[in-house]
Amino acid sequence: MNVLVTGGAGYIGSHTVHELINQGFNVVVFDSLENGYKEFLPKTAKLFQGNLENKKDLEEVFSSNKIDAVIHFAGYALVGESMENPVKYFHNNLANGINLLKTMKKFNVNKIVFSSTCATYGIPEKLPLEESHPTNPVNYYGLSKKLFEQVLESSKINFIALRYFNAAGAAFGIGEIHNPETHLIPIVLEAALGKRDSIKIFGTDYPTKDGTCIRDYIHVLDLASAHILALKSLEEGKSGVYNLGTGKGTSVREVIDLCKEITGREIKVIEEERRPGDPAELVAFPLKAKTELNWEAKYNIRDIIKSAWDWHSKHKSI
Ligand code: UDP
Repeated sequence: MNVLVTGGAGYIGSHTVHELINQGFNVVVFDSLENGYKEFLPKTAKLFQGNLENKKDLEEVFSSNKIDAVIHFAGYALVGESMENPVKYFHNNLANGINLLKTMKKFNVNKIVFSSTCATYGIPEKLPLEESHPTNPVNYYGLSKKLFEQVLESSKINFIALRYFNAAGAAFGIGEIHNPETHLIPIVLEAALGKRDSIKIFGTDYPTKDGTCIRDYIHVLDLASAHILALKSLEEGKSGVYNLGTGKGTSVREVIDLCKEITGREIKVIEEERRPGDPAELVAFPLKAKTELNWEAKYNIRDIIKSAWDWHSKHKSI
């Protein structure tokens, strides 16, 4: 099967490309390299450097390759930036996604796995979060993803939207780099390495067991395997949205304590005010993915931090 992977040189995309190649798929990566690294790709993946904004780029990649299905990762994913520049998010995550769908239709490609997010839910009314929970995003990142899910629902294309919880961890000798980095686990590990003086805890007065926010961290390898199962489910005619999480929550303080234990390093912590837009707790109810996609998370938070530390402590810079 030939799969086009947009954003395949990014963090989750590149891990998925490695897993696809390991499982015998032929992969064409479409990436602008704005936030992706070609060094992250296996040699056997074909890279087409292009932009979803350019119809010409899209038509070139679809006409020069026989594509059976698309996995669509390309998009912006910083909550804070989406609040400062919403149009940037609607432009890339929505309008450019529509360009992709139009080209798929033109070339008769009718299967897509979409990289969505638990940010589509907004503030949880009930935990753990089921797919039937209302979607009232509280930031433009989440809204842009929700709107694209709606475009998919209204299109004639068969789709599976995967709502990731907190992706983390590393595998295949590659790892997580964002510029700027805003995610908790890489920041804490950078502090352990001395690349930062300290880490800030955003809010210690949440109504949680230790006052800090709780998230459901999911290993990037578990996400990669979910995309492949989603492709197989599309082949069987399944469609819809699925949560990808472990069903277990970990607080910010627990993450920091585990990082101290796993790295054996001191990490200086500063308690700060809450960060705007952070729900106190986001944890998935992942049963639908288990029953319908046959997917289940294999790795826990300890495995995630160990794998991330293994990569962060070895890699210098790209
Ligand atoms: N967080 C923190 N300090 C940091 C970065 C993140 O306390 O330097 C907190 C953040 O407020 C949230 C949790 O860690 O409660 C996870 O944040 P992250 O940005 O990794 O993922 P998000 O849940 O926002 O997608």
